[in-house]
Amino acid sequence: MPHAHPLICPQCNATFYVAPKVFNRGRTYCSNACRHAGRRRSAEGRFFEKTNKHSAHGWQGTPCWDWTAACLPNGYGYFAAHGKMGYAHRYSWEMTHGPIPDGLHVLHHCDRRCCVNPAHLFLGTRSDNMRDMVSKGRAGRESPHGEHSPNAKLTEANVREIRAAVAAGASRKALARHFGVSAPTVRAVVEGKSWVHVK
Ligand SMILES: [Zn+2]
Ligand SMILES: [Zn+2]
Repeated sequence: MPHAHPLICPQCNATFYVAPKVFNRGRTYCSNACRHAGRRRSAEGRFFEKTNKHSAHGWQGTPCWDWTAACLPNGYGYFAAHGKMGYAHRYSWEMTHGPIPDGLHVLHHCDRRCCVNPAHLFLGTRSDNMRDMVSKGRAGRESPHGEHSPNAKLTEANVREIRAAVAAGASRKALARHFGVSAPTVRAVVEGKSWVHVK
């Protein structure tokens, strides 16, 4: 190949030769296998640049790895790799264990959404996630309930009043109108599905 350009593959360090046309297109790796491996490696490099492995927080004696780059409003870090955006903790789990099976969630032992330490992550279903949230007391923090919720139209006193009125035979529809809330809201109050903490 008299006019071929020599290149060194950044993944395997092999020297390879490409035609000038290919060289001008900006060829980098010697093979598809090296290209995939190289891109994965550079994504991992960027991932670790955004990770603080010396968090003050931890779980069972091991430090959290705090995500230092962008986080979503829900508290999870996000990261773009291989052309798609995703959650940083999911990326971390996949880096260690391989693809996440369909429909499963990656949950945190340490209860810190910004943590991407694979040792603090485990797989679970959506209901595991909910149960985990409740058992860690996160449900309340995540969606403030009761009168502290920004959307609350009722107060704890209202809730007691509604329950007492229904017990005394008042119409739920009339109560809904009176308090300016929906019928399902009144039903949830009466059936104890909302305002569970109000006795
Ligand atoms: Zn190579
Ligand atoms: Zn952690």
